[in-house]
Parts: sequence; C-alpha cells; structure tokens
Amino acid sequence: PPHGEVVLDVQAVRKVFGGLVAVNDVSFQVRAGEILGLIGPNGAGKSTTFNLVTGVLPASGGEVRLQGTRIDGQASREIARRGVARTFQHVKMIPNMTVLENVALGAHLRGGRGVASAMLRLDRDEERRLMREAERQLARIGMAELAHEYAGNLALGQQRLMEIARALCADPTLLLLDEPAAGLRHKEKQGLADVLRQLRSEGLSILLVEHDMDLVMGLVDRVVVMEFGTKLIEGTPEVVQASPEVRAAYLGT
Ligand code: ADP
Ligand code: MG
Repeated sequence: PPHGEVVLDVQAVRKVFGGLVAVNDVSFQVRAGEILGLIGPNGAGKSTTFNLVTGVLPASGGEVRLQGTRIDGQASREIARRGVARTFQHVKMIPNMTVLENVALGAHLRGGRGVASAMLRLDRDEERRLMREAERQLARIGMAELAHEYAGNLALGQQRLMEIARALCADPTLLLLDEPAAGLRHKEKQGLADVLRQLRSEGLSILLVEHDMDLVMGLVDRVVVMEFGTKLIEGTPEVVQASPEVRAAYLGT
C-alpha cells in the first residue's frame, strides 16, 4: 500500500468477558509505513485488542478492516494469510534446532498446517523455498551470520529478532509486536529499535504494544493510550507525553 494509506482500521471494537468490558468501543488506525504504539497500564485491554485484530478472540462488537476489507469474524489463519503477522510475548522456538530452521518451520506452521504435517509432508521444493525465504528475512534484519547457530544459544534479544524474521516470512503488510523489548538489555533494545525503524522505512506498518516508555516514545509515529478498556488519548509522542491525563494515569507523575 502507498505510504500513509490506512492499512488497519479498527472501529469501535468491543470485548466483553462475562460482566467485564475489557475493550470498550476502541477505534484507531494504522497507516502504511507507520509505527503505532499501544500503551497503558496492566489490564488496560492492550492484549485483548491485539487478539481482536488477529482473530484470536471474536469481538463482541465493532469492525476491523485490513486495507478496506472486513477481517473481524474471520479465522486467525485467514487474517494471517491476508497479511497480518504477529510475535508473542514469550519466544516460541525449538532450542536445539538452528535459527534458520526455526524461522523456516515457524513460517511454514503459520501457513496453517499442523506440526505433524509440517514435518512429514513438506516436499523438497517447498522446504527449499522456505529455507531461502528464512535466509532472506534473517539477512534483512542483520542476522545472517547467526543462521546456523542453535536457537537455544542465542541471547534473548536475538531470539526476539528471530521471531520477527519468522513473522516477516509471511510477507506481512502489518506486523503486531507484543512487548518485544521485555527483559532486553539496553543495547538489545537499541538493536531492536534499529530493526523496527528499518522495517518502517521499507513501508511496513507496525502495531507495537510495549511497556518501555523511552523505547516507545523514541520510536513510534503515534501512540494510543488505553486505560480500563477505553482509549484515553491518541497522538504523537510529544502530545501524549505532555497530556496531564496520561501523566496522571500512566506515567504516574
Ligand atoms: P493488558 O494487555 O492491557 O494488560 P488485557 O487485554 O490482557 O490487558 O486484559 C484486559 C482485561 O480483560 C483485564 O481485566 C483482564 O483480566 C481481562 N481479561 C483478559 N483476557 C481475559 C479472558 N480470556 N477472560 C476473562 N477476562 C480476561
Ligand atoms: Mg497484555
């Protein structure tokens, strides 16, 4: 999509768990080539919002559009196939397989087949294609030299990048990241931020849930702040950081 075009359009999405309104008519948009930060205290509804966008949870109301097409109500596999990729807060990997194999296998599983079928029915051409794609994506984020290292030997920051490479194999339009900097050292966070800036410059759209305020504010184009399931404010980092409500509710000052 052309730079600045709306890629993800979330309109009044709602999620009710029993009597609890976890996400209360939240609306926002992510544009092509933009990093949108989604922040807020624990329990604000960030992960639930993520799960509504990726189809992991059915919404209780509202609409989600990807490049103009409704995706709410569709299966998460179908949403992934249409170009929405995500990483998880806890790294999913097979430690005694190589980085390359982890990226390729993960990319294959994302395609919608089960583990057994992934192992047994992957034909030679398909396997070669996946390995090439995995290699390409590892190189794209500067991890080519680590391709043949065991995943279990990587530092956490590298494992997080490995997950991003895996997500990129699906050639997404929109990448959703769930706290990618959690537990990382300062230098690793900088490396992650550099990769995300590069992906943005390549036109990818990123929705970033992240607790590290310095990382978020130094990286994103716009921020959506959630509290108690509702959107408190949305704007550039400068505007949001200056907002008295946000300072009171979230930054604690
Ligand atoms: P955040 O990611 O911002 O910390 P969540 O989206 O995980 O917040 O949670 C928002 C609210 O919804 C919380 O009160 C949480 O306890 C509740 N919640 C989340 N998932 C479920 C679920 N599967 N069943 C019931 N309540 C849930
Ligand atoms: Mg969460």
